[in-house]
Amino acid sequence: MDSFRNQPNLPIDVLKKQVKAKWNVDAHEDNVGSCLILMVERPMPEVPCRFQRLYVSFAAMKTGFLQGCRPVIGVDACFSKGRYKGQLMTAVGRDANNSMYPLSIVGLVPSLEQVCPTAEHRTCVRHLYANFRSAGHKGLLLKDLLWTAASSYTQTDFHYAMEEMKKVSEPAYDYLAKNDPSTWCRGCFNTMAKSDLVHNNCVECFNSWILKYRQLTIMSMLEGIRNKLMRRYVRKRELIAAMEDGSLGPKIMAKLEKEEDGASHCWCTYAGEGIFKVECEGKRVAVSVEGRTCGCRKWDVTGIPCSHAISAILYHGGNPIDYLSD
Ligand SMILES: [Zn+2]
Repeated sequence: MDSFRNQPNLPIDVLKKQVKAKWNVDAHEDNVGSCLILMVERPMPEVPCRFQRLYVSFAAMKTGFLQGCRPVIGVDACFSKGRYKGQLMTAVGRDANNSMYPLSIVGLVPSLEQVCPTAEHRTCVRHLYANFRSAGHKGLLLKDLLWTAASSYTQTDFHYAMEEMKKVSEPAYDYLAKNDPSTWCRGCFNTMAKSDLVHNNCVECFNSWILKYRQLTIMSMLEGIRNKLMRRYVRKRELIAAMEDGSLGPKIMAKLEKEEDGASHCWCTYAGEGIFKVECEGKRVAVSVEGRTCGCRKWDVTGIPCSHAISAILYHGGNPIDYLSD
């Protein structure tokens, strides 16, 4: 294998012949750019190789992620359930419709801190809550306050929820305060990813989606997952082909419609220099239509105009759809 690595410009035909001669395997040119890393252990030359780990990512999946997904990756591990015990680790992105987009189907994902040192890291709040509860902080009120804090789009609302928690249980507050809010509170997320995800449901969905393959042997499991992914991509491609140019994914459309309903409760006033003052249900925020920002930060974090923004956009004579993030 090292001899191939040392000759990255080896012509394809020569490579195919050498692979065939060495391993009696027919190499194909499909999905060029795909990545497969296999690690085996062989403590002594006379014993057969023993599987250690494997990483697979198809070029088409990587291209699709770069071209059509949000810059967000969920990573999680689950156990294989069959005779051969092991862990199955998955990286799942989010497509333009906020649906799951599997990125690397099996493998040991390198430490994200090493690969993406500048990337924002988020903690799954469902896991955070499970640990919080296991630490003895139980009850519906504490659960609601934790989720309210995590779901707050501004740091003001986050601190308000945390102060409420302090009044209910100081140990619960102290436990949560030890966790850096930039990893689990929407109010602290950067606005580049245009995603307000606070949980890792997509990866867990994927893990249960492939449940029946997790009890198979490694090769059968890989083949089963590959086929299932292939069928999913075909279905998605047909769905997209049937859509009109420029139309939105149904999940994004539903979110926008919900915000449009909320805009009917907003009262908008032009405050000069492209800024609008919007009052809604007792709250007052500033919206900059051209700056695509709202004081509630929901538009900034999600990329979907919030009800305040829609109120200002309509006042401005615009169409909310034109103000969705690309
Ligand atoms: Zn807003």
